[in-house]
Amino acid sequence: MPQSRPNILFIMADDHASHAISAYGSRINATPHIDRIAAEGMRFDNCFCTNSICTPSRAAILTGTYNHVNGVTTLSTHLDGRLLNYPKVLQEQGYQTAVVGKWHLGHGGIHDPTGFDFWDVLPGQGLYHDPEMIRMGERTKRSGYTTDLITDYSLDWLRGRDRDRPFCLMVHHKAPHRSWEPDDRHANMYEDEDIPEPETFDDDYSNRAAAATAARMRVESDLTAEDLKVPVPEGLTPAEEKSWKYQRYIKDYLRCIASIDDNVGRLLDYMDEEEIAEDTIVIYTSDQGFFLGDHGWYDKRFMYEESLRMPFLIRYPREVAPGTVNGDMILNVDFPATFLDCAGADIPKSFQGCSFRPLLQGETPDEWQTSMYYRYWMHGAHHNVCAHYGVRTLRFKLINYYGDPLGQEGAIGPKSEPEWELFDLEKDPCELNNVYADPDYAEVVTQLKAELKRLQEKVGDAKYGSESG
Ligand code: CA
Repeated sequence: MPQSRPNILFIMADDHASHAISAYGSRINATPHIDRIAAEGMRFDNCFCTNSICTPSRAAILTGTYNHVNGVTTLSTHLDGRLLNYPKVLQEQGYQTAVVGKWHLGHGGIHDPTGFDFWDVLPGQGLYHDPEMIRMGERTKRSGYTTDLITDYSLDWLRGRDRDRPFCLMVHHKAPHRSWEPDDRHANMYEDEDIPEPETFDDDYSNRAAAATAARMRVESDLTAEDLKVPVPEGLTPAEEKSWKYQRYIKDYLRCIASIDDNVGRLLDYMDEEEIAEDTIVIYTSDQGFFLGDHGWYDKRFMYEESLRMPFLIRYPREVAPGTVNGDMILNVDFPATFLDCAGADIPKSFQGCSFRPLLQGETPDEWQTSMYYRYWMHGAHHNVCAHYGVRTLRFKLINYYGDPLGQEGAIGPKSEPEWELFDLEKDPCELNNVYADPDYAEVVTQLKAELKRLQEKVGDAKYGSESG
């Protein structure tokens, strides 16, 4: 007799771009365990975040709301635990709920996790080795590699659960976030090989808004000694040095992913041993994408494809045919509505996303979304990425760099001159040629500005309009 309501095992990495997952056709690594979720389930090829930065994306995933609504616009604005989130709804429905690993939504008082029967989370970014973690309010130091520990604690919780009730477990890896520190087991992977450089590695940012040139996330000049971990060899030409830094960066990044992949395998094995794979929705995703040397960059934040895209793999044998691929647009704000829909719970009115459960079953509703709204608020902070918002349709992307911190905590001045970018993703998938001023696209610009305005009004972010610049 199958359990009537599914378990939910939500595995989320931090900054794991889909082009570093072999199920997504990675040219640079293999992720056999993560790929298993795709082979036995569905791969979504157009999953996007609504704000490509850790804390805001996590808030969207929990609350089903955009960041201007949940208040978590930047890394400095923490989640108010009194807000409704989907684990609270599941609890009311009799689910057992837990979150283990990276939280990064603040801690203490109203910022501690709510809606979870059990939580054991890293303070802030957390460490890769021997981390401190906060378990139900008590902070203690642990011994081991954080990716392994997060899985250990997740398995411990699963083993101790009430087997008569469904569960929802969120496993949030810290890896492969900067500073990319692998464990000993994977420290020598890729030692005797060169990882291919991406097609846009030597992008010179011409034909783009000034925001691209202004960003300080270049492999050639912005990786620190701490990132690189070993001194740059002497006597290299600038091009050689850039390539050397890329190899240092990307190999450590991929080694951290190899460890995640092993640990995903451990969780999948447990599902098999417990014979609960049929009754469990397993998801693998990341809070946003990442530049893997693309455009000469590391990091995220921009609305450009590598950063905007989230991997999203889902296995649910009861409803999802194995080895399927879906190209419809889904967003991080849609996750919680989907989970509640699958669990048979009502979706709260405050949730702004919509359930994509029909897509899991191979049915695309007639009116399914074909455009999405994005907004990055952290003007000037960290990597000096300009605040922007934009709209992406299936073919085009319009971005407005409005260039103003707008008093947001975690955003800094000075203001920059507003600029627009338009990309024709069909003709220019690498986004190298801004066609905003091209008369051939004048009509597209008009349509997309109207669509941007429509989306801003729909999600309630019309305060600053879309007319600037
Ligand atoms: Ca992140």
